[in-house]
Amino acid sequence: MNNAAEKLYRTGDLPDEELSALILSEDAEENAALVKYADEVRRKYYGSKVYLRGLIEISSFCKNNCLYCGIRRGCHDAQRYRLDRPAIIECAAKGYKLGFRTFVLQGGEDPVFTDDLMCGVISELHEKYPDCAVTLSLGERSRESYRRMKEAGADRYLLRHEAASPELYSKLHPPEMSLENRKKCLYWLRELGYQVGAGFMAGAPFQTADDIIADLRFMQELRPHMIGIGPFIPHHGTPFAEKKRGTLDLTLKLLGIIRLMFPDVLLPATTALGTISPQGRELGLKTGCNVVMPNLSPADVRKKYDLYDNKLSSGSEAAECLRSLEEEIENAGYHAVHERGDHASMQNKGD
Ligand code: SAH
Repeated sequence: MNNAAEKLYRTGDLPDEELSALILSEDAEENAALVKYADEVRRKYYGSKVYLRGLIEISSFCKNNCLYCGIRRGCHDAQRYRLDRPAIIECAAKGYKLGFRTFVLQGGEDPVFTDDLMCGVISELHEKYPDCAVTLSLGERSRESYRRMKEAGADRYLLRHEAASPELYSKLHPPEMSLENRKKCLYWLRELGYQVGAGFMAGAPFQTADDIIADLRFMQELRPHMIGIGPFIPHHGTPFAEKKRGTLDLTLKLLGIIRLMFPDVLLPATTALGTISPQGRELGLKTGCNVVMPNLSPADVRKKYDLYDNKLSSGSEAAECLRSLEEEIENAGYHAVHERGDHASMQNKGD
């Protein structure tokens, strides 16, 4: 069974049992083949391009209580902050000068960020930077809220589904949150014309190979434009403080599988992947990733957006160090580009 990677490369899918065996396989030859095919496929759709997104973490207040997350409502020693509209615009201005053409506004579910406030921020960004894409990652909101923000000029929305298995979802979240609502939000976003990002943590507590298969099957149905995959990393102030973190090997394995199952998807080498290993991001790029999201948040709040312990926030992770990140990307054999970086299906041929 050491040709599963090749079969996945040729057919774009595998039966559950073979997928499960590939997820669990420690066969070095098999894993090397997966990396090789993943790179071949990313180059077919995106060449050597790596898209940069400027991440602006707009609020560390959150009304939710996800068991894994360091900014959950119940984390009493979390430091809370929120950026106001001028501060967000200022981050974008700084990012624009550095060459970013996508801004990602991410935050906890903070009721202060009403639809009116968000629509104001989005339309100002849209007017000032018409050549840039605006991505939102603000959790679960109403259909009307998503509709208004789209109308104001938002292009994309990242909402990891977190776990497509109802059993696992309920072990990672408090009873008042539901997988059903999470999925409903993702389908609304799709219908409304957003480029949509789903995803989950590799090695989340209690996660089995069957759970991962459920995630892959759900994403085959949703067909997201982007898939965010990073290792779970415990945060000391959460109920999962003592749980084991996700491994580099499992995360890379899933990135490779996802590149072969979703050949033209936008796949970030995440901050969490860079946090668990100094080579994490480089290895991610070599295993099918084609996006990186450096941090554009104001330096004095960065440590406060504390999703998990030791989250990277300086070095080549920081937008100011863009040149060193660009070098890192070149050294890995790729090329950082200053483009909006839409999904392959939305890019004009010959651009
Ligand atoms: N409130 C937004 C943004 C959440 S933060 C939302 O609901 O989508 C972005 C992502 O960080 C989450 O989707 C989650 O998958 C990831 N994350 C949270 N805690 C983490 C942890 N302890 N380890 C790794 N990733 C984590």
